[in-house]
Amino acid sequence: MMEELQQLLFIGLESVQYLLDPQKRIYWLYLLSSAVIAVGLIMARRENISQQLTKALSWRLWLHPSSRIDFYWFFLNHILRIALVVPVLGGGVSLAITLNRILYKWFGAGDFWQLPELTVTVLFTLVLFLVEDFSRFFVHYLYHKVPLFWRFHAIHHSATILTPMTLYRIHWAEMLVNSIRSLLVIGFVSAMFIYFFDNGIHPYTVFGATITAFLFNMAGSNLRHSSVWLGFGYFERWVVSPAQHQIHHSVAPEHMDKNFGATLAVWDRLFGSLTMSQNTKVEGYGLAGKAVEQRFLSQQGGL
Ligand SMILES: [Zn+2]
Ligand SMILES: [Zn+2]
Repeated sequence: MMEELQQLLFIGLESVQYLLDPQKRIYWLYLLSSAVIAVGLIMARRENISQQLTKALSWRLWLHPSSRIDFYWFFLNHILRIALVVPVLGGGVSLAITLNRILYKWFGAGDFWQLPELTVTVLFTLVLFLVEDFSRFFVHYLYHKVPLFWRFHAIHHSATILTPMTLYRIHWAEMLVNSIRSLLVIGFVSAMFIYFFDNGIHPYTVFGATITAFLFNMAGSNLRHSSVWLGFGYFERWVVSPAQHQIHHSVAPEHMDKNFGATLAVWDRLFGSLTMSQNTKVEGYGLAGKAVEQRFLSQQGGL
């Protein structure tokens, strides 16, 4: 019993660390910036601020069966990450070194381009962002189009309430696939840069997070999984807005398979899946035409 309590305490403390880690979406500063944007929007729309705040902080929202499952998946994936992903898969760096050795063996010495360190850093940050964002989009696209993948991704879409914690409501199979995807992208892009350039091979960071992720998170990323409607108008052709991700979660059949993008909307434009938020209304979140029982254990095999 004592051991179980200690384990629970450990998990609780570990998850609090997410609030203090700038590489996590729910870092306190990102949550705060989203809250500030939300308050600004409520004031601009002349809505009742105290009523909206009471709604956002109410236990009905955070203890709703759908929200509770977000936390269960968060905890399970967190433990699996510590136990499996980190020790078994390691980091992208070791993959980059291995790939780089292969390049040397096959094509001889690299380091062809002598560019200033800052130029390489900016280039690396941009290329990493583009490859990372496209790979996220494409894997997400496959989750929706391949029936076996959808079975697991449907867990994320079965949320009927959206809170910032819904980001972590993903099946452990999806978490593993996402970890491998991220590892491959970092490994592949780093290996290429290590091979072609001789210095400056690291992304430009702010508080330890890549500058692109930092800016994205400061621009209200947590509102994507919330009921605060924020569109970017014309810019939604370029950058995915929180409202566009809410459309992605909509129960309406016409919103199915729309807005797969993470940050850039250009991939959705290329694949014909872009829906702008203007003149679009979302009536509710969840799986179209399917009522899902919000039971964590029965979701382990997917939906
Ligand atoms: Zn999806
Ligand atoms: Zn989502």
